[in-house]
Amino acid sequence: MSSKKVNIFWFRRDLRLKDNRGLLHALQSQKEVLPIFIFDTNILSKLEDENDLRVSFIHDAITDLKEELNDLGSDLLILTGDPLTEYKKLIKEYNIEEVYTNEDYEPYAIKRDKAIASFLEKENISFRQYKDHCIFAKDDILKDDGKPYVVYTPYKNKWLAELRPKDIATLETHKYFDNFKNFKAETLPTLEDLGFIYNEKADEQVKTIKGRIIDDYDKNRDIPALDATSKLGIHLRFGTISPRKCAQVGYKKNDTWLSELIWREFFIQILYHFPHVENAPFREKYKNIKWKNNKKEFKKWCEGKTGFPIVDAGMRELNETGYMHNRVRMIAASFLVKDLLIDWRWGEKYFARKLNDFELASNNGNWQWVAGTGCDAAPYFRIFNPYTQQKKFDPDFEYIKKWIPEYGTDKYPDEIVDHKIAYHETIRVYKECN
Ligand code: FAD
Repeated sequence: MSSKKVNIFWFRRDLRLKDNRGLLHALQSQKEVLPIFIFDTNILSKLEDENDLRVSFIHDAITDLKEELNDLGSDLLILTGDPLTEYKKLIKEYNIEEVYTNEDYEPYAIKRDKAIASFLEKENISFRQYKDHCIFAKDDILKDDGKPYVVYTPYKNKWLAELRPKDIATLETHKYFDNFKNFKAETLPTLEDLGFIYNEKADEQVKTIKGRIIDDYDKNRDIPALDATSKLGIHLRFGTISPRKCAQVGYKKNDTWLSELIWREFFIQILYHFPHVENAPFREKYKNIKWKNNKKEFKKWCEGKTGFPIVDAGMRELNETGYMHNRVRMIAASFLVKDLLIDWRWGEKYFARKLNDFELASNNGNWQWVAGTGCDAAPYFRIFNPYTQQKKFDPDFEYIKKWIPEYGTDKYPDEIVDHKIAYHETIRVYKECN
């Protein structure tokens, strides 16, 4: 073991050098900084698809980070395994004083970090975590009585009232880049080494915040046929873009844009304060809904073959690209839960597998919102009508025809349920829980 002390910076969902809070603190410490990344096999082993785009995306982001660090005369130490086990090995190789990282608010991450912090503490190594993934997190935005918000609008109002320019100011990490440790690490494991194959679409996830989209966001964001939303979800998820940068473009200019970023933080704080939502309804009374859970109908929904074109177009967009427009996510999710009476957790799981921008807090929060089981949920009797939604948001069938080439021919399937009958059945089933 080298006798010279180092500080570690551990990259997780913040895969960038610039404007990174935890990294800034690490680089401002008095020690050289050894950057590390761990391919967490506890997470990788749960993924079902060998060409999972998220893994390819991370692999690309790590490759870029490593190159940037090489240009600075440093490197990225890449480990693969269970993070705690990797730390146990790491402390034998390096004389570590402190470990710096950014906070991760998901239940698995909190548990993992607790175990690592307590292990390191016993070794006299401090584990320092910083807020970087959100503008406001944990207890930053609370009600006057000190409790977390469970309703979005008052949360948003408080969020906006609390926001100061310093909260979204870019952090000048780059000023301290000289403080990275000068060393040479081994090459990156290939995706094949990790048990995956490359998904070409990982390369297509554009990171630019397009001015045109932000300017017309209010007007166009609900129209799925238009390319009118940012597609930044995956970058926010893995931190290849800073949330401060995203908020800066809306600050005092575009509240609708900011509102969407606030939805993201709202659900992150919900998951943090109410971790039971990961597996159960936020509202206890909905835990015994009598779902139909028809497997054949579920399969048809997954494949985009329900005979409801706006739903099917969305599901096909998802299956082909890993993305689905927000308006259509709401319609497709509502259809699964309220027309087919299938447990929202089935849909949540399918989205988690397929969505490039999958984020536990947002996926769970939105599914529960649609199902009416969550905090601040649409009341159970408010059920999306797939016909009127289509008329309003895709009146010329532009989006539908893009994803369903056989729409309008006899190759397109008949409707698998009668919406009116399903509507009344759902109201009856939900009423039983009220
Ligand atoms: P934009 O409209 O450009 O919005 C910018 C950013 O704001 C998004 O990237 C996202 O980070 C955030 N945002 C926007 N809308 C929401 C919202 N309703 N809730 C939380 N954050 C929001 N979003 C995810 O990031 N991950 C998910 O796993 C996810 N699952 C969803 C499941 C369902 C059933 C529904 C209805 C919505 C889900 N969303 C999820 C929210 C939303 O659909 C996506 O964030 C959005 O469509 C991503 O596209 P975009 O980046 O072009 O969004």
